[in-house]
Amino acid sequence: MDTEIRDSFGRRVSYLRISVTDRCNLRCRYCMPPGGVVPKRHEEILRYEEIARAVRAVVSCGINRLRLTGGEPLVRPGIPSLVRMLRELPGVEDISLTTNGQFLGRYAGELREAGLSRVNVSLDTLDPERYRDITGGGELAPVLQGLAACRAEGLLPLKVNVVVIRGVNDDQVTDFARWTLEEPYDVRFIEFMPIGDIGLWSEQAVVLESETRAAVETVGPLERAETPATSRGGQAWRLPGARATIAFISPISKPFCAACNRLRLSADGQLRPCLLSDSFVDLRAILRAGGTDADIRRAFVAAAQSKPERHRLGEGAACHPRTPMSAIGG
Ligand code: SAM
Ligand code: SF4
Repeated sequence: MDTEIRDSFGRRVSYLRISVTDRCNLRCRYCMPPGGVVPKRHEEILRYEEIARAVRAVVSCGINRLRLTGGEPLVRPGIPSLVRMLRELPGVEDISLTTNGQFLGRYAGELREAGLSRVNVSLDTLDPERYRDITGGGELAPVLQGLAACRAEGLLPLKVNVVVIRGVNDDQVTDFARWTLEEPYDVRFIEFMPIGDIGLWSEQAVVLESETRAAVETVGPLERAETPATSRGGQAWRLPGARATIAFISPISKPFCAACNRLRLSADGQLRPCLLSDSFVDLRAILRAGGTDADIRRAFVAAAQSKPERHRLGEGAACHPRTPMSAIGG
C-alpha cells in the first residue's frame, strides 16, 4: 500500500463521497435554495472515466470506501456502469449510494449486479401529501417501491435518512419509530444543518437529538443495538422487538468531526475537505491537464491537509457554508 493520507490533525482519510451530478428531480425545501440552483454545464461535470481515474490513483493510499451521491445520482444516466468501473478497481472495499429513491425500483437489480454494496434512502415523512410538500412535488409510492426492490435484491442493510425539521416533519418521528417495528429499514434521524441559501433554515427549525430521542421513547425504551462492521454511523438503538434500528446523526449537538475520515468530490471535480467549509482543491484541472497518479495523490493530500479540525455550526451565521447541499453532495 502507498502512504496513507492523513490530515493535519492525524485523522486518516479512507472514505470518499462522490457527487455524480448537481441536478435533482426533487426540490426538497431543506436542501435546495428557493430559486433553485443553476446547473453546471455538461462539460464541467466529471466524466465517469475521470472519476474512476481519480479513485484508481488513491485507492492504494487506503481511500477504499466510496459513496455515490448528488444532486440525485440516479438522474445521471448509466450509474450502474460507474459502479461497475469502480468495483473493478483493485482495493475498493465498499460502494454505497445515497438517493431520494424515486428511481430506485428501476435500478435496484442493475445496481446490485454492478457491485453496489448498500443504499441509503432519504425519506422525511411517511405521509404522501407531506412528501409532496417537502420535496416540491415528489411521490412517496415509488420510494417505498424502491426500498422493497432493494430488499428483494438483498441490498442490505437499508438505511432511511430523516432530516427532522420543526413544523415540517417533527410530528412524524414517532411514525418512523413505529415503522421500525414493522419494516427492516434502519432509520437515522439527522439534525437540520444550515447549508447554502435555504430559506427554511432557522435556529428554531432545528430539532436536536435530545428532543427527537424523547419523541422516539414515547413509543418505547431504546436498547443498544449491535452495529454491523460496515457501519460508521455510531451507536444504533432498537425498540423492543423491532425489525430495524434507530440512530441519530447529530452534527450540531454531537459533532463527529474528531472521527471524520472523509473527503468529498463534487460533480464538477472540486475536492472538498469538509461539507461545512467552502474551500476546495480543483481536481478537475489536474485530471484534464494530464495529471499523473502522483499529481492526483498530491491533490488529495492537499485537500486532507486543509481539513478544518472541526466545523463551527452553532457559532453564528458567518459559519454557514454558501454552496448548496445538492451541489456539494450531502
Ligand atoms: N438526492 C440524494 C438524496 O436526497 O438522498 C442525495 C443527495 S442529498 C444532498 C444527501 C443527503 O443530504 C440527504 O439524506 C438529505 O436528506 C441530506 N440533506 C440535505 N440538506 C440537508 C440539510 N440542510 N441538513 C441536513 N441534511 C441535509
Ligand atoms: Fe434533491 Fe436530495 Fe436535495 Fe432532495 S435532498 S433536493 S432529493 S439532492
